[in-house]
Amino acid sequence: MEALIVIDMLNDFILKDGALYSGKKGEEIVSFINKEIKNFRKAKNPIVFVCDNHEMDDKEFEMFPPHCIAGEKGSNIIKDIDFRKEDKVIKKRRYSSFFGTDLDIYLREKEIDEIYLVGVCTNICVLYTAADARNLGYKVNIYKNGVASFDEEAHKFALKEAEKTLGCNILY
Ligand SMILES: [Zn+2]
Repeated sequence: MEALIVIDMLNDFILKDGALYSGKKGEEIVSFINKEIKNFRKAKNPIVFVCDNHEMDDKEFEMFPPHCIAGEKGSNIIKDIDFRKEDKVIKKRRYSSFFGTDLDIYLREKEIDEIYLVGVCTNICVLYTAADARNLGYKVNIYKNGVASFDEEAHKFALKEAEKTLGCNILY
């Protein structure tokens, strides 16, 4: 069984006035992601929204400006994405969607062994989610047109690293 994992499509990352705006590229992937969400819904495959969600004084803010603070508007899923209440929401505090979350147990209980990643940023949360997924034995696909970063060079490096080192499939 397969699942679509939508990473960090949140106000603070995608909106221009967000605390950690990922740039024009982040906005450009929204329609592609909605298309894939539609495909997964049609096939009755689960759609998981993994969402950065930080404490006010989170340790991550030693490296990045404060963003996606629990309960604040910046941490909400952008309204332009086709999120529905039957979709699974997983909150995370670190780059990897698996670290300190119940994503692995959720996927295992649904007998999902293959995941498809979309979202931001390619070289941060997408890459480290892909790495943990591979370590845990999942088949991992990344949609090239469904991921983005504020840093184009890092985006390209991350896709190459995911393919050559982690053994992910890079799709259109
Ligand atoms: Zn964060």
